[in-house]
Amino acid sequence: MGSPDPGVDPYAPGHGHTDYRVTRYDLELEYKVASNRLAGQAVITAVAAVDLTKLTLDLAPSMGVARVSVNEARAVKFSHRRRRLSITLPRPAPVGSALRITVRYSGSPAPLAGPWGEAGFEELTEGALVAAQPTGAPSWFPCNDHPGDKASYRISIAAESQYLALANGELVSRRARAGHTTWVYEQAAPMATYLATLQIGRYELLEQPAQVPIRAAIPPARRADFAHDFARQPQMMAVFEELFGPYPFPSYTVVVTEDELEIPVEAQAMSIFGANHCDGTNPEERLVAHELAHQWFGNSLGLRRWRDIWLNEGFACYAEWLWSERSGGPSAAALAAAAHAMLAALPQDLLPVDPGPDLMFDDRLYKRGALVLHALRGALGDEKFFALLREWTRRHRHCTVETADFLEIAASFSAVPLQPLWTDWLLSPALPPTL
Ligand SMILES: [Zn+2]
Repeated sequence: MGSPDPGVDPYAPGHGHTDYRVTRYDLELEYKVASNRLAGQAVITAVAAVDLTKLTLDLAPSMGVARVSVNEARAVKFSHRRRRLSITLPRPAPVGSALRITVRYSGSPAPLAGPWGEAGFEELTEGALVAAQPTGAPSWFPCNDHPGDKASYRISIAAESQYLALANGELVSRRARAGHTTWVYEQAAPMATYLATLQIGRYELLEQPAQVPIRAAIPPARRADFAHDFARQPQMMAVFEELFGPYPFPSYTVVVTEDELEIPVEAQAMSIFGANHCDGTNPEERLVAHELAHQWFGNSLGLRRWRDIWLNEGFACYAEWLWSERSGGPSAAALAAAAHAMLAALPQDLLPVDPGPDLMFDDRLYKRGALVLHALRGALGDEKFFALLREWTRRHRHCTVETADFLEIAASFSAVPLQPLWTDWLLSPALPPTL
């Protein structure tokens, strides 16, 4: 009853809890760029999933907790060890009861080390970003850190006025006072903790004319490079809406940092690219497509368990190929053949449907996942395949999914049993010899 659990997902041990569910995070934060100091409070609205006497939130040790309140009780007992903030409830909370937990905290945020490298809050040369996939969210706010527990967010961020501060969702207010500006964003659609983000830097905000509002926050010196490298993003949005169904959020924002980033990062209704991805030579348009596709696959349709990561990365990788095909580049068939040849020369010890935590971000998982979709497209034909993708994004919009959900929908689009296809492409480590 309310005892600390070991985490809810073997891919992310020590993160996430099943004994309560969060419905909303209200973060009121202040960040000082010069000293990398984050301070504020989180108000977490949750519902007890079992009878509770205690509960645990995930929060990095670099964030010091000053006070915790629960409902009307102002200073409740808590302990904060390692990445766990354990709170003793002032009175037992029966299953179904609502909890309003307020945590006041501050510290010098830093990314959290994990088996996949560092993730979370990161200081930039001048500013900061959050790139939390998969377990970096506790680096900057107390949370139930698991993608299966989505919630709405209000994020208020105050920073020195020379910086633009972005968070997920729509800007609902901006107030400047005494050299500081407070930006308030509302993210109404449910969002996984790892997709919550802050982006702070000397950015200017641009708009790209498109059906869906597309904004960009870029260093002013990158204006021409951005205009060149991201020029086709509005067409990309139109193509993806045609193939995948309506874009799932009210707007889309691209951030280009002054610093270089190893890889771009997806956040909800936002993607973050490094200076190296926007240098005026259109270095990686496939990554622009990949990150945009995550808005449907990964963000609107979220994972219940990390083992189903192919539902994010396989789909985003296949979206790269679809964009190539639709924009005058090599066809998806040609890219699938190239990926197949590349994979055939590599060890085949990765099970696409459950790659294990060490291989969940392995490039082979991305390509194998895309090949599952290419094989399925071949079996169904284009008309049914894209109708299936649109039904997939419609039926599970803003929810969480697992592989069985996709197989079930796919079956309803096929006149023949798809089990042999799944066995060959999805449920076996060995790569089928031919496409
Ligand atoms: Zn991806």
